[in-house]
Amino acid sequence: MKTKIRNIRLVTCAGDEVIEKGDILFDESGILDYGPDIETGTGLEVINGEGLTALPGLIDCHVHLGMDCSPDPFKQIAQDDESQTSHLARKQGQEFLEAGITTVRNLGTRYNADIKYRNAIKAGHATGPRIFAAGRPIVMTGGHGHVMAIEADGEAEIRKAARTQLKEGADLLKLMATGGVLTEGNEPGSTQLSEYELSCACQEAQNANKTTAAHAIGNEGIKNAIRAGVTTIEHAYLLDDEAVALMKEKGTFVVPTLIAPTLILDHTQGIPSYMIDQVTELIEEHRISFKMARAAGIPIASGTDAGTPYNYPGLLADELALYILEGMTNLEAIQSATITAAKTIKSDHILGSLEKGKKADIILVEGNPLENILALKEVRTVFLGGKSVYQKEKSLSTLRVGLST
Ligand SMILES: [Zn+2]
Repeated sequence: MKTKIRNIRLVTCAGDEVIEKGDILFDESGILDYGPDIETGTGLEVINGEGLTALPGLIDCHVHLGMDCSPDPFKQIAQDDESQTSHLARKQGQEFLEAGITTVRNLGTRYNADIKYRNAIKAGHATGPRIFAAGRPIVMTGGHGHVMAIEADGEAEIRKAARTQLKEGADLLKLMATGGVLTEGNEPGSTQLSEYELSCACQEAQNANKTTAAHAIGNEGIKNAIRAGVTTIEHAYLLDDEAVALMKEKGTFVVPTLIAPTLILDHTQGIPSYMIDQVTELIEEHRISFKMARAAGIPIASGTDAGTPYNYPGLLADELALYILEGMTNLEAIQSATITAAKTIKSDHILGSLEKGKKADIILVEGNPLENILALKEVRTVFLGGKSVYQKEKSLSTLRVGLST
């Protein structure tokens, strides 16, 4: 059945378009029309959207389904069996959806549990957001996140690991270009997979028409990953002018995950001291790097690194609040979680904006996120592919004005 939401603020993310009092019409085939006043015909459900804002479903470009957000999540990952990981991933998938995050790009989960969850959703056996799944990351022996990864060294092993992940159904490959904060004994700034190893993985992904994401904290590792041709640089703590110029030249995206280190410093209790020390050292540089990338016009797609300490599913609006604190406008921040994010998964032709013909992934939030970004946390209703998959208790029944005849 067709649904029309009327009298609602539309932040379409088609360019800078905002319609203060508009209508949007959609069904399970996609968005049929939108505008200040649209012709809809009869036999449809009508919802009064007064006081609400409609936006494209949000996209979190960096999550870890199956990682439990505890103070030392790699310890949990090492202990959990496949069924525990899979149950946690599904619970978290639901939490993302209820927070208005209709798509997640999953960048590392043990047992390829994210790929299997995605398949279960597609088959109709499970509910959850759209998942773009990397499955197990590819790391050097002993590299960052090795508890959930495939360890591979040298061209032959890297190609084998990349092809194995693609065979398992990965939508993209996650590569570790540097050490990381969460892995004990790792120096976050140190270079890990070499530029050549990274380029072999990128080539395998490109051959299969897939994308790549590189975890990269240290400056040299960041440059290796950009030169190797990755689609996105994750975290990007230590940029310099050369790295920014390289990204510009190569069309690389940045996914900053500013909230991940922030949460570690906000909740030090129980977090191993090596994580706190490393984050303390890096956090200022991280914010400076974010500003450098933005000033140079590097596309910034939002991601939280959900699953890391205290980084629970659904904190994307808090990530955007940090972008705004560092100089973005509210609309720019919203675009980083919608249309720009859709580009990182090469899905901007079907996701990321409210336009005719796109999938009807639509969220309704209370208030105006153009004035207060945290309004994105006040989710009333979530439509995924035109179907209502979440509504805040009793909310839709009070909004619904019934069927038009
Ligand atoms: Zn991560």
